[in-house]
Amino acid sequence: MTVHDLVISDARLRRGAREPLRGDVRNIGIVDGRIATITEAPVDGIERVDAGGALVLPSFVDAHLHLDKVHTWQHTGGEARTAYAGEGMAAAARAIELASAVKDDYDEAIILDRARDVLLDGLRNGITHVRAFADSDTRAGLRGVRPLLRLRDELAGLVTVEVVAFPQDGIVRDPGAIDVVDEALRIGADIVGGIPWIEDTAGEALAHVDRVFDLAQRYDRDIAMLTDDAGDAALQTTAILASTAIERGWTDRITACHARAVGLYPPPRVARLARLARRAGMVFVTNPHTAPLTLPVTAFLDAGLPVALAQDDVADAYYPFGQHHLLEVALLAAHALDMTSPRAMEHLLDMVTVHGARALRVDGHRIAVGAAADVVVLEGDDARAVLAAHRAPRHVIRNGRVVATSQVTSDVVVSSSTEGAGVGRTN
Ligand SMILES: [Zn+2]
Repeated sequence: MTVHDLVISDARLRRGAREPLRGDVRNIGIVDGRIATITEAPVDGIERVDAGGALVLPSFVDAHLHLDKVHTWQHTGGEARTAYAGEGMAAAARAIELASAVKDDYDEAIILDRARDVLLDGLRNGITHVRAFADSDTRAGLRGVRPLLRLRDELAGLVTVEVVAFPQDGIVRDPGAIDVVDEALRIGADIVGGIPWIEDTAGEALAHVDRVFDLAQRYDRDIAMLTDDAGDAALQTTAILASTAIERGWTDRITACHARAVGLYPPPRVARLARLARRAGMVFVTNPHTAPLTLPVTAFLDAGLPVALAQDDVADAYYPFGQHHLLEVALLAAHALDMTSPRAMEHLLDMVTVHGARALRVDGHRIAVGAAADVVVLEGDDARAVLAAHRAPRHVIRNGRVVATSQVTSDVVVSSSTEGAGVGRTN
């Protein structure tokens, strides 16, 4: 009998969005960082974690996080947020100009510490893969990229970090930004970013997309763009991204993030874009918690397109909250998008696991024999219970090793006094 390095006993498996029924309980054996056995029979192992019938999923994948900006909210005064989210996102472009000021004070040592804290918080919350955007433009220079590249190396084996060289303020609007993106790729950035909707004309948006593809093809990199991120139904850079990928033979290598204006399109135009996106092998990334407008998630899911949920922001100029916690993001999305049917809740779990993995092209991110043992043991035995609790996983397993464990205590002490009641937790 095989002796496994690690055994997860009594793990509840999912059936998936097509069959939103409670899944079966199995024992999972792991050898050399991979799932070697899934069985009802007892499994021998050197180390063991008891899932106790709780749901076990592939670990969480965050496909869109502005990691160089985390915890800068206190420097921004909230003005950019008000412009970004207010009045149906009418002033989103102005918000980006306001938020840009924070980059004048960029300090690489501070970015390094803040970003590390956020990645380790995320790991405790079960996030093992992160696509991290770093502003790469004339204002930030390489001061956003360099600390994230360092963290990518420092945390390798715990958190897989992909760094996106991202010209946040535009390419035509910010002459010189494309050279900074080029330099960021030269020193090791993994993905070429873009934000074509921010340019002033449709022609300049096209030029923006072309410059990004030129670099992606020169360096052989995937592309992640923020498309159509304002309250303007005339924006169509999502479609331009897809059609350019088809024309240039760069299909299955593009991600469209935000794409919020698509939520204002009439249904026939959404259907046309969905067909185009399928041909382009495009993955969508959405973050309904960070602004009041969202791409038509259910329509795209029903069309068979991958739509990942992502954190987007942690306490920066655009969003005051966030703790790098995709179950929290999923719960917020359940409310924002009214995704509360059993089937929709299963979709939410796919959106923070396998759809994110599609964006990052993480192969075989699933609970199956032969797959990498990147796994979370959650609190709750089905999608509803897991979302309702939205707690850090009981166990986070990376490459077959337990890297985080959270103890939930029931030792809650309620005390009262003449000044009022206090609730404390003893642990
Ligand atoms: Zn974003």
